[in-house]
Amino acid sequence: MNRLRLSSWLIAAAVVTPLLAQEGDGKLRIIAFGAHPDDCDSRAGGVAARYAALGHHVKFVSVTNGDAGHQSEGGGALAMRRRKEAQEAGRRIGIEYETLDNHDGELVPSLDVRRQVIRKIREWKADMVLSPRPNDYHPDHRYTGVLVQDAAYMVVVPNICPDTPALRRNPVFFYFQDNFQRPNPFRPDVAVSIDDVLEKKIRMQDAHTSQMYEWLPWVAGNLDKVPKDPAARLEWLGRNRGRSVSETVRQTLRKWYGAQADAIRSAEAFELCEYGRRPSDDDIRKLFPFFPNP
Ligand SMILES: [Zn+2]
Repeated sequence: MNRLRLSSWLIAAAVVTPLLAQEGDGKLRIIAFGAHPDDCDSRAGGVAARYAALGHHVKFVSVTNGDAGHQSEGGGALAMRRRKEAQEAGRRIGIEYETLDNHDGELVPSLDVRRQVIRKIREWKADMVLSPRPNDYHPDHRYTGVLVQDAAYMVVVPNICPDTPALRRNPVFFYFQDNFQRPNPFRPDVAVSIDDVLEKKIRMQDAHTSQMYEWLPWVAGNLDKVPKDPAARLEWLGRNRGRSVSETVRQTLRKWYGAQADAIRSAEAFELCEYGRRPSDDDIRKLFPFFPNP
């Protein structure tokens, strides 16, 4: 191809390929991966609810089936219970929720699971992918981060998983917020206010009965503090799952919200992964259509 033809081809491609959305309806397509069937909810349930309310398409994927996450239940029965809880959680905020059938507590970054992740990103035609960072106390969380990183770029290579059409454009990849310091602390590149959807997010988490009211309190040693009454339980969950905004996240909020930032009470923050497409600040404003005009 000569130079002139190449440049006219590039112009044509720019016209037919929308700047951000892979699909033609103009709506964003976001897919988030967690290790367990309640992980995405706590890190991105708020932004997911906000995207869904604007008609964008969001899918949460749990890479394991959660079959080890309980003090007195386990195996296939627990996996089935948690799949139903996850589906109900997704229904409550208007998103899809899928649970992959890999064992909880035994996840390794194998080629087989990498292929599962590549196919999910392609099938969703994702514009943006969210995942944990590969530094975390839980091996399943760490390897979910590794698996998603390993899928970045591979999603555009047609000879990899040729049974599922490759994406023509690498999505933008972001990590969820965490508090781990080594080898490097989380860097909030983007932060979104979830004040308007905090109640929705708590109601989403409330759907994970086996976790919020049984397993997690049991691990923390406060199972006896969980109220029995559903309304009191929900209120208790809201008090326990609320998170204050850290000073570094507050600074990021100021970048995107300007003068409005200091009034924000709850937020979700994300760090850009270097292995996906690199968005400009202008692209980020389109990918996160929540910020006031600068
Ligand atoms: Zn987890």
